[in-house]
Amino acid sequence: MVIDPGDDIADVLQLVRKHNLSVKQIVITHAHIDHVGGAMKLRAATGAPILLNQNDYALLKMLDAQAAWIGVPDPGKVEIEHSLAQSDRVTAGSITAEVLHTPGHTEGSICLYFPAERKLIAGDTLFAGSIGRTDLPGGSFEKIIDSLHDKLLALPDHTVVVPGHGPLTTIGEERESNPFLVKS
Ligand SMILES: [Zn+2]
Repeated sequence: MVIDPGDDIADVLQLVRKHNLSVKQIVITHAHIDHVGGAMKLRAATGAPILLNQNDYALLKMLDAQAAWIGVPDPGKVEIEHSLAQSDRVTAGSITAEVLHTPGHTEGSICLYFPAERKLIAGDTLFAGSIGRTDLPGGSFEKIIDSLHDKLLALPDHTVVVPGHGPLTTIGEERESNPFLVKS
């Protein structure tokens, strides 16, 4: 499973070959170009299907505009195999993740929770000491706060959080010290 191949597909493929793996699915946490921009190139190289929550399909149609905003080439149309919804499960070999639908950064943002590995792939919903921005199209501050409290803070404190950008953290650490999450 490759999560959020934004770019650098040659590097991704090099890692896949080095570990003698085969890519079975490409999971996208949300349809921002820096998370999905390389997905079609990776699909072309591996044949793996691309999965994304349907609430981000509209944002996916705006990849040309997103490319223009940040001044990178338009990656073209991205074809989604099927939508990933709340409580769906995705597996890679013996590893299983539960899909948490966490709207706010975008309408279709998801996080992937690997209970056995005690790990959360958080997309751009939760960062060490911060949360995802909500001022882009489809963003909602109210929704991201609800998602964080209802879905992510419901996870055990020992859960290691792998954010879409920046350093690792844990649910416990963020519960204690994230200024957007601590109760005043
Ligand atoms: Zn984003």
